[in-house]
Amino acid sequence: MKLKYIGKETRDKKIIDLGDGVKIGEGFTIVAGPCSVESKMQIEKIASFLSKKGIKILRGGAFKPRTSPYSFQGLGFEGLKFLKETAKKHKMKVISEILDPRDVEESLDYIDIIQIGSRNMQNYALLKEVGKLNKPIMLKRGMNATIEEWLMAAEYIALEGNDNIILCERGIRTFDNFTRNTLDITAVPILKSLTSLPVIVDPSHGTGVRSLVRPMSGAAAAVCADGVMVEVHFNPDKALSDSKQSIDFEEFEKLIDTTKGIYSCIQNVK
Ligand code: PEP
Ligand code: MN
Repeated sequence: MKLKYIGKETRDKKIIDLGDGVKIGEGFTIVAGPCSVESKMQIEKIASFLSKKGIKILRGGAFKPRTSPYSFQGLGFEGLKFLKETAKKHKMKVISEILDPRDVEESLDYIDIIQIGSRNMQNYALLKEVGKLNKPIMLKRGMNATIEEWLMAAEYIALEGNDNIILCERGIRTFDNFTRNTLDITAVPILKSLTSLPVIVDPSHGTGVRSLVRPMSGAAAAVCADGVMVEVHFNPDKALSDSKQSIDFEEFEKLIDTTKGIYSCIQNVK
């Protein structure tokens, strides 16, 4: 496999600098927020809790890639506005998914990290479009993608000039359907051996099961991932999307302690 721009031997580890001291690639970063932005009140309540816990990057989907066209599709640009206003108030940065190359430009005022979702990992028109930007991109693993295909998708972005890329392992489809996806935790050390890019883990989509989110976040810390991205809601059962994998505030506090403890242990091993 030839990695021209994101290979480990090409350069030192890439640190994603979001400004105001917020970085990905230094220490263990926790990105959190609801699956979808549902209302101004909802995002405010969640962001206010998260910021008090020291979380600096707020997630929230405004354009939702739902399996069924009849499921909640997200609030679109209105959702992005709520997200941005709320994040600004709490001094947080915003990550959100863009599905359509035609929405990229308009989204730039609202988003600090553009997320390319699993279903779009090989949408080359979209990859090229975000490759022209001077803005960090989080590239999630396609649910059916090999590591090589995933890295090649990242090369598509870098080739256009944008090497501010974060890779996000979010689980792949296997024969087992007990969990929503099979979280490929081995991808983390493999990617770290091959690329200079930060790697974060999404145990929410990676498992689809609320009770597995914290243990798998601990696993991400144990394999020295650069962080996790998790779905949090004050009333997970009532979340408009991905309620089964969303965790409540209490569980999130435990997740912070779990990952902090494991990450600091592993850092002490030389
Ligand atoms: C998401 O993180 O909002 C999402 C839809 O995840 P994925 O693209 O990994 O399914
Ligand atoms: Mn989700």
